[in-house]
Amino acid sequence: MLTAGAYGVPLWAVISVIALPLASGQMPEWSAEQMRSHFPVLVGWVLFGLALGLCTQLLNDAVSHFFGPEPPPQAQGLAPKKHIVILGGGFAGMKAAECLEQELQKDPLVSISLVSETNALLFTPMLAEVAGSSLEPSHISTPLRTTLHRTQFIRGRVTGVNLENKKVWLDAGIAGAENCQSELTYDHLVFALGAVSNYLGLSNIQRLAFDFKSLIDAIRIRNHVIEMFERADREPDVQARKPLLTFIVAGGGFAGVELAGALNDFARGILADYPNLGSEDVRVVLVHSRDRILPELSESLGRYAQKRMEMRGVEFRLHTRLTDAREGVVVLSDGEIPAETLVWTAGTAPNPLTKSLSLKKDKRGALIVDKTLAVPGHTGVWALGDCAAVVDAKTDNPCPPTAQFALREAATLAKNIRASLEGRPTRGFHFDSLGALCVVGHQTACAELTIPFARDRAMRFSGLLAWFMWRGIYLGKLPGLERKIRVLVDWAVELFFPKDIVQTIDLR
Ligand SMILES: Cc1cc2nc3c(=O)[nH]c(=O)nc-3n(C[C@H](O)[C@H](O)[C@H](O)COP(=O)(O)OP(=O)(O)OC[C@H]3O[C@@H](n4cnc5c(N)ncnc54)[C@H](O)[C@@H]3O)c2cc1C
Repeated sequence: MLTAGAYGVPLWAVISVIALPLASGQMPEWSAEQMRSHFPVLVGWVLFGLALGLCTQLLNDAVSHFFGPEPPPQAQGLAPKKHIVILGGGFAGMKAAECLEQELQKDPLVSISLVSETNALLFTPMLAEVAGSSLEPSHISTPLRTTLHRTQFIRGRVTGVNLENKKVWLDAGIAGAENCQSELTYDHLVFALGAVSNYLGLSNIQRLAFDFKSLIDAIRIRNHVIEMFERADREPDVQARKPLLTFIVAGGGFAGVELAGALNDFARGILADYPNLGSEDVRVVLVHSRDRILPELSESLGRYAQKRMEMRGVEFRLHTRLTDAREGVVVLSDGEIPAETLVWTAGTAPNPLTKSLSLKKDKRGALIVDKTLAVPGHTGVWALGDCAAVVDAKTDNPCPPTAQFALREAATLAKNIRASLEGRPTRGFHFDSLGALCVVGHQTACAELTIPFARDRAMRFSGLLAWFMWRGIYLGKLPGLERKIRVLVDWAVELFFPKDIVQTIDLR
């Protein structure tokens, strides 16, 4: 219901704000006043979405009650039980478990286990908002134990896999928990271990930069920014103050741009709490090796994003590479910048565990799978998400490492595991991207949505309208009703109160 309600926001944008004025011969406008006058219609759309969601749910329940699949056979005493083990509890792993639960329903002959280092799914599209102090960290993480109902969840780190003996080794990583399971056997194994930051061999940068992949990374960045402000506030020397308030983000893809936008808003937003500091002291610099940011979007949107961020004070160093770093200094291909803060979003590589496996990998180190997501030559081994090199079965194009694709791969994978358990043929993975959305800070976003049935064309949106769409779409996608409400409350609080500068971890 809530998901359908959240989809009321983009529907409102496309139909009420754009299509209806165009149909009556007027140009759509999205000035702040216009948006205010559109607000009651927005409420109407959201209520319509909620009602539609409720009706769909009721209809769905009725259809599956009367016409749903036959209940699975009861366990036949001696029938051997099959064990599916999923490694990784991110988008790919959690969705695969959810879909397997649906596919296999209450089939007593199959058990599912999911192993993950963290006990919650991290909703990465909102990670920049945690670093920028707009959202509470735990609000963008959905506990795996409450989401998965018949999957056994094991919090632990996978340390190795023996493909011959079909065993997975775990390091529980919990101090004092000597009785923790350290070995699992499987009949089907799913690799969904995601990716890590790739520093391209730049060891000093790796040592000194912040990663931006996990919740703890975002929490560290936020606390570090506050720490820098506290230190700068006590620093009377203007020159010594500069590196403290210079924040460098490496990488002009989605993660880097969203983070630079969020940090810029955060840093400038908290200046009021530091009377000794002024906006001229703050520098947020985005370093990118290509000639424009956001290569995933069309050029016009990339340029728009850059212009809007520049207007808000973000500096861009394009055609520039990071080459080295020292304490307090970031070395670029065309000079040095004194800075105490460097965040790396410029490269990722598949999970390093894949290196230890005697399976075929592509040149990035991602596990090669066939078009059904099965690992060739190893019956019952599957891979998906950021740790796999997935190729679309219809277009032969490589699938991008995004959550959008990982979720769809998971649905296909669950169907294929069920088919292979039942001895039926498996099917190839195909998915057409729905488009991309990126927030660039200060209630501004860029959106490029693929037009259904005209896949080579896209609808482009920018500014406040795209920002509303971003919030509506991602709120709809955030798993769990409770999390959606928590995030909505955070967003509402942010409208009326200044950014929170409470340090939650001690960085000294
Ligand atoms: C800041 C940021 C913003 C993003 N924004 C978007 C966006 O807007 N839209 C979009 O589509 N995509 C976005 N992405 C990309 C998206 O997050 C990834 O493509 C997606 O998470 C891939 O899913 P996955 O399940 O393969 O990997 P992950 O979601 O990374 O999950 C991997 C899981 O494996 C676990 N794990 C790793 N190693 C081990 C081990 N040894 N033992 C046990 N468990 C382990 C991890 O704890 C994690 O739970 C973003 C990524 C980032 C970093």
